[in-house]
Amino acid sequence: MVRLNLFFALLCLSVSANGHQEPIQAFVIPHSHMDVGWVYTVQESMHAYASNVYTTVVEELSRVKGRRFIAVEQEFFRLWWDTAASQWHKKQVRQLLQEGRLEFIIGGQVMHDESVTDIDDAILQLTEGHGFLYETFGVRPHFSWHVDPFGASATTPVLFALAGFDAHLISRIDYDLKDVMQKKKKLQFVWRGSPSLADTQEIFTHTMDQYSYCTPSYIPFSNRSGFYWNGVAMFPDPPKDGVYPNMSLPVTKETVEPYAQTMVDNIKQRAQWFQTNHVLWPWGCDKQFYNASVQFTNMDMLMNYINKHSTEFGVTVQYATLKEYFQAVHQSNLSWEVRGSQDFLPYSTEPFQAWTGFYASRNVLKGVARRASSLLHSAESLFVRYRIKYPEGPVQKEWALDKLKALRWAVSEVQHHDAITGTESPKVADMYMEHLNQSMMGVQELLAAMFLLPQDPDTASAKYRSNTKDEQPSKDLEQHIIVYNPLAWNVTTYINVSVKYSMALVYDDNGKVVPAQIQPSAESPADYDLFIMVELGGLQYRKYLIQFPQSECKKGSSCGITHAARVVKFERRDVSEWKKRGRKLLPVLNDCYKLLFDQETNLLHSITNRLEGQKVIIHQDFWEYDANGDVHAGPISDNYIFTANGSAVPAYKSVEMEIIPGKIISEVRQYFYREASDKNYTYAMVTRVPVGFKDKLLCQRLDQSYALGPLVVNREAVLRTTTSLSNKKTLYTDNNGYQMLKREHKQYINNTVSRNYYPMVRQAFIEDEDSCRLSLLSERAHGVASLAEGEIEVMLHRRLWNNQEWNRGYNLTLNDSSVVRPSIWMMLGSSAAVAALSQQGALYLQHRPVVLPIDKPQKPWSEHERWNGPSVQPVVLPPNLHMQYLGIPGWDYGPNHTQHLQNINSGVKTNPEADFDRVLLRIAHLYEKGEDPVLSKPATINLKEILQGLGEVKAVQERSLTGTWDISDLQRWSWRTTEKTGNKKTSSSSRRVTMDFNVTISPKEIRTFFIHF
Ligand SMILES: [Zn+2]
Repeated sequence: MVRLNLFFALLCLSVSANGHQEPIQAFVIPHSHMDVGWVYTVQESMHAYASNVYTTVVEELSRVKGRRFIAVEQEFFRLWWDTAASQWHKKQVRQLLQEGRLEFIIGGQVMHDESVTDIDDAILQLTEGHGFLYETFGVRPHFSWHVDPFGASATTPVLFALAGFDAHLISRIDYDLKDVMQKKKKLQFVWRGSPSLADTQEIFTHTMDQYSYCTPSYIPFSNRSGFYWNGVAMFPDPPKDGVYPNMSLPVTKETVEPYAQTMVDNIKQRAQWFQTNHVLWPWGCDKQFYNASVQFTNMDMLMNYINKHSTEFGVTVQYATLKEYFQAVHQSNLSWEVRGSQDFLPYSTEPFQAWTGFYASRNVLKGVARRASSLLHSAESLFVRYRIKYPEGPVQKEWALDKLKALRWAVSEVQHHDAITGTESPKVADMYMEHLNQSMMGVQELLAAMFLLPQDPDTASAKYRSNTKDEQPSKDLEQHIIVYNPLAWNVTTYINVSVKYSMALVYDDNGKVVPAQIQPSAESPADYDLFIMVELGGLQYRKYLIQFPQSECKKGSSCGITHAARVVKFERRDVSEWKKRGRKLLPVLNDCYKLLFDQETNLLHSITNRLEGQKVIIHQDFWEYDANGDVHAGPISDNYIFTANGSAVPAYKSVEMEIIPGKIISEVRQYFYREASDKNYTYAMVTRVPVGFKDKLLCQRLDQSYALGPLVVNREAVLRTTTSLSNKKTLYTDNNGYQMLKREHKQYINNTVSRNYYPMVRQAFIEDEDSCRLSLLSERAHGVASLAEGEIEVMLHRRLWNNQEWNRGYNLTLNDSSVVRPSIWMMLGSSAAVAALSQQGALYLQHRPVVLPIDKPQKPWSEHERWNGPSVQPVVLPPNLHMQYLGIPGWDYGPNHTQHLQNINSGVKTNPEADFDRVLLRIAHLYEKGEDPVLSKPATINLKEILQGLGEVKAVQERSLTGTWDISDLQRWSWRTTEKTGNKKTSSSSRRVTMDFNVTISPKEIRTFFIHF
């Protein structure tokens, strides 16, 4: 998206151009920034311009040899390829790729956001795009072009290095910092994004200068436009006469000289900011090149003119792909400074424009995006299980793959930098939701089919055994559920099933009664929450039977095993009447914690970690920032930007509390009322304290879920947790769930609150000097800050409106009236203990067991269940390894690159058929070097043994991150650095699978394999 930055536009006019003596070589890189969504839906964009981009660019490149183009987002390209491209266009695309004149950059389905995306989803969308490109053309992208994400994460360079890229490119970084880097010629460096992987996965990184990715647009003689001869795209329909608004004046005898002078001046100015004589001159902007003919015809003339006068100008110009530019820089053989694992967040464009609002914009979409990803993760591994167990099973494999592909597409799409960020118009937000919901329903159908269709007639008829004589036919209702654990770790946890009956009994698949608890639901008065304790192996599913007794429980019967928990209500407390706090404290206990709630306030008072003996005073409630919506009254908040207009104030006048002591969980419900006597609450917080579990993580996590909204317009709501920890306002937040970064509080002349906000994707924590840590784990992204000693606040919801013309024109004011229901797990204890649990904990939260009801409560069959125990074997990894992906991608390409290219070129593979026998497995080491004495060690596993619960492994091949390279052929460019690293590690030596399928995974490594069973 383009957002005019006046500050820079004015600044740059004052900088004069001179410096380099040798002719400057300018690489004019034609590109079109095609947001997958943002203001217009994908369909509207295809119709108005996107389809025309590829059609006309391919035609124009075919016409004149010297022309080039880089294609970035795959979603639009694939839609064009599948629905609009003619056979001639397709042939030309292959030809242009071979000639290196058309180049695929990044290759992901979208240009993913870097702040609020989870690493697993970023990899998913990259894999999806790369799979298509490699299958269709045999090409593997080598460069990134992250020109528009709002700030840059240190995880992204690591991902691109792992994917085999030779260089990375970013643009939007803090304005002050960019200014300094520009002046010092430090816009280019070698980035070691991961402290553990360090130089093994470093990547050369180019930061775009202050003009960013658009061509300078203000030229006084040319319609006040720039080098955009095709004008501005029109919605909903392209104009019939081909005349678009704001078309730049054509290049003619009269205009060529001022055009040339303007371009040369700009090239010379930019040349001063770089160490080599090469200038990357991006030519394009948002939605450009839908009429490539007029674009190239004018630019051809202009460039010819400049090259004819290159001696006077001191500049030569050429069309280039990104590869040609980076190759020139690489060949300069300079040594580059090394950047460590610091990221470029948050991003500010000027003192009052801190782009920290989008960390929390559209909380519902952020949540659904992660739930969809989690469902996909489960369904992929279940489909692998199914295919291996029932190769000829009744679930049709092509049908199944289509369901999975639809969800892969939707989850990939929403990673776009104007999607999961919440920075899109309302109709586009609806489009993402629609795509996610539709494809999630499809995958639910697939799950149901895999579990419900009888796999073979024998087991189907033998499902029930005969009634024994002494048993009476039961009048009770029964329901069956399947529970699947999508993680490759054994898990003991509780699940929550919403039921209509006040009592229920639960049996597992061994016929054993399972501990459970039932209570009136917090959310709807007619329902009950049934909490069931489940024990599942890694990637294992089990069947549970729920019985609903239709008569009173008999004394001594098994019916009493389910604990019927009762709600204890406390009187509503007005804030205005709070007197002495801390006098009447109510304890809620489990083996790990003692929580005290204050009856004077109905709020949390303190938490004691009973294992370690630390007591921390904790106050937790909701606050609101009052945002300004009037541009004439000061800086505003919008989808992107958070401008704290003064300090936050408490968002409630009274609080109600209910406590439900239990045997599986104890629940504390708090309701916050905007006005003391309001009938309906605006905020709610439910804290579940797991009780009676031996499992360390389960005992040490406090499950909180919240309900917020609808908010009053121009409010930004935060959950504030104030503690007695002395953290000096230092906060730790994650980059995309991959690694933790330290965030020291910074004081600014203006806008200090907003500029100290950071994204939290999976985790954030504060700790004091005694190494006591309070950690928050999250299942969706939020904004987070520590603005006062001992305090951590999470922005959970925003509802805004403003009168800025740009915002209103595009409908980007974020009037989000929804009720949001995020969850956070809170852990408190010594830093070492909490650190050891957090990485796994965040994944347990993200990938909770999937509960699939396979029937409705009904009269039981006349015969009883046959208890067989779990029907599948577990697959279990060590606790420091996470099975990031296990699925059947379905791409049709052989493991050998040369052979694959031959097949494509000979036309053998024009209609690819899905390959159902190749499984893609990705395993990530969760810990940093030195983070934990045990968990940080490299882990050696035997893939054959680990995966035997699925089937017999026959072959393993290690691949690049997205599966497209055989790791042994992967040669990335190495870049000289100013740092002497001694004997430089080659990443290939440790990255090998032994003949007997052993593999060693080191801290923070992500390893990808093709497995054949
Ligand atoms: Zn964009």
